[in-house]
Amino acid sequence: RAKTAAKGSTAYFDDVMGTVAAARLELEQQLRLAVRDRQFRCVFQPKIDIRAMRITGFEALARWIDRDGTVRNPSEFIDIAGELGLLNDIAAIVLEDAIQSFPSLDKVFGSETRVSINVSARQASSPTFMSGFAARIAASNRSSRIILEVTEDAIVAAGPFQSLVLPQLRQMGTKVSIDDFGTGYSSLSALADITADEIKVDRSFIMSIQDRPRSQSILKTIESLGNTLGMSIVAEGVETEDELNYLLSQTSIQTVQGYLFSKPLFVDEIYKLKDIFSDICWKVA
Ligand code: C2E
Ligand code: MG
Ligand code: MG
Ligand code: MG
Repeated sequence: RAKTAAKGSTAYFDDVMGTVAAARLELEQQLRLAVRDRQFRCVFQPKIDIRAMRITGFEALARWIDRDGTVRNPSEFIDIAGELGLLNDIAAIVLEDAIQSFPSLDKVFGSETRVSINVSARQASSPTFMSGFAARIAASNRSSRIILEVTEDAIVAAGPFQSLVLPQLRQMGTKVSIDDFGTGYSSLSALADITADEIKVDRSFIMSIQDRPRSQSILKTIESLGNTLGMSIVAEGVETEDELNYLLSQTSIQTVQGYLFSKPLFVDEIYKLKDIFSDICWKVA
């Protein structure tokens, strides 16, 4: 009897594994077709100057739009795309869409707002990829309005990003931001050797910061380091009024992003952001 049960569960296991493998294959196939058919768009999340209470820029975030209109987030495709060697193609499609969106953004917010674009650590440390990417940015004639977001492990001082890519970006006026700061492996002192314009403090440090003394000290340290090194600080993932109030009253942080203000929006929806402040302004102390 035990034998049959064991046999049965093995069959069940094989069955589940078969289903998982088939689903994965299906996803890979869909992703290849999506790249062929350029089914990727940007959504834009505003960056808010909380001292002036105005929008100063947007982060462009990739979305995969299925044939049937289903919108998929990066967590569903970025890693797989990387494994399949499709991420550079996706990056080109996303960059193109971000550049094409400038006129629409400008119409609503004027031509001062900047657009931040993400590249993976692997892309950032590939001079071949980055020189093509930078060339497209330069050709847009908006290179000084673009900020490149790169995670800290990609821009360690000794790597190719710092020595080869950064000088080219500098020359174009394109800024560099260290994304998800605090979650990588570089120590704070490694920052001293890195040239970047902006630090984005990871959401995990901002979450409930008003109640978390350890996060408060970490943020203080990042802030003073940023001030010393001339990098501006952005707080990611601000979701609550308490978090915003803490940042306003206990820090000198100027720029935030987060669901409290807005989720990322498709370009044809961004006009809705025109009046997000009337709501927030009276709620904060
Ligand atoms: P990220 O660059 O750190 O982007 C911020 C992520 O946090 C976005 O998720 C955004 O929608 C989300 N977010 C913003 N505000 C809040 C908030 O208040 N609460 C919470 N819980 N989340 C918030 P998204 O769009 O799913 O992107 C996830 C990650 O995928 C990005 O993290 C970025 O690393 C990567 N990614 C997005 N677009 C691209 C791209 O074009 N290329 C590459 N290489 N990576 C991308
Ligand atoms: Mg980012
Ligand atoms: Mg981030
Ligand atoms: Mg993050």
